[in-house]
Amino acid sequence: MPSSPDPVPLDPAVASALDRAIDDRAEDAFGFLERLVAAPSPVGLEMGAQQVVRDELDRLGFLTSVLPIPGDIAADPVAGVPQQAYAGRGNVIGHLAAGTGPSLLLNGHIDVVPAEAALWSAPPFQPVRRDGWLAGRGAGDMKGGFALASLALGALQAAVPGWLRGELSFASVIEEECTGNGTLAAARAGVLADAAVLLEPTDLGLLLGGVGILWAEVTVRGLPAHAESAHRAVNPVDSAWRLIDAVRSLEKQMALQLDGPFARVDGACTVNVGTFHAGDWPSSVPGQAVLGVRVRTRRWSGWRTPWPSRRRPTPGSRSTRRRCARRVSGPRGTCSTGDTRWRPRWPPRTRRRTGSRPGSSCWAAPRTRGST
Ligand SMILES: [Zn+2]
Repeated sequence: MPSSPDPVPLDPAVASALDRAIDDRAEDAFGFLERLVAAPSPVGLEMGAQQVVRDELDRLGFLTSVLPIPGDIAADPVAGVPQQAYAGRGNVIGHLAAGTGPSLLLNGHIDVVPAEAALWSAPPFQPVRRDGWLAGRGAGDMKGGFALASLALGALQAAVPGWLRGELSFASVIEEECTGNGTLAAARAGVLADAAVLLEPTDLGLLLGGVGILWAEVTVRGLPAHAESAHRAVNPVDSAWRLIDAVRSLEKQMALQLDGPFARVDGACTVNVGTFHAGDWPSSVPGQAVLGVRVRTRRWSGWRTPWPSRRRPTPGSRSTRRRCARRVSGPRGTCSTGDTRWRPRWPPRTRRRTGSRPGSSCWAAPRTRGST
């Protein structure tokens, strides 16, 4: 790869002009961020906030459009499993061009993760200013990135004549927090460039790598009964604890395979149980427990699952299903058969000893695969 050119020293007069232009526009950027935070954008409800982004890009002179997510994107081998239908949802794309120099793409995600409103001191989508900071769901990750991009572009336009010498694209994408299909759709539509900057919050650090994210949903089935017969039942909550212990052991196994810069990153591989649902009545032994698990690991095609692969699976075969299930716990998560079910026995020896007892079995289903 060619080495990066040395940065061009900034003329002190230009630097001062940029500083002034930034100061002059800081309040406007804050206002833009407040409008963004006030437009809730969890998965499925992004378009109100997308319109706020589009209005801002229009103001900056971009040629803007809404790029729909293709309905068949799930068939793409690198797509995540869609969480919701894509009708009426999409990316906002902006283009600005001048000259034939190198092209640049600014990419940010408009979606935010859900907020547990009862735990907030103020409604999460009501922006609140405190001591020069703005609080609200998504203010940091990553609507603040949109505001700073707008601030930087506005300042460049005002202070540096001829600042743009190539094509500048802006992609406000959906579903970064889960599937990554928004950015995938943009890339498939040709929204690409010689270089790209992700507008994620990094405390002004330059991050040159990223981790892979995989979601899995695991159902642990038990043998339900009234609580008075609990000694004859199989409580899937109890079984789930053992499963969680085993899933957590994946962290250690994956960490042992890290090398290079990732080996020095705390928590480069984490396995998080983010949701746990079981039962509907304190006096009943529930029939099943459902866990939502997030696996975070480095992206590396050479990563191997902790389980040995004995033979090459064929599509639709039992071993294919097992391979897919293994990938639920792997970093690539390339299983595209979203409806695949796997029924490992858990724990294997316990099941064998108890014969055909229906308790303590579980199945794992790949749900989606995210990006960074
Ligand atoms: Zn983010």
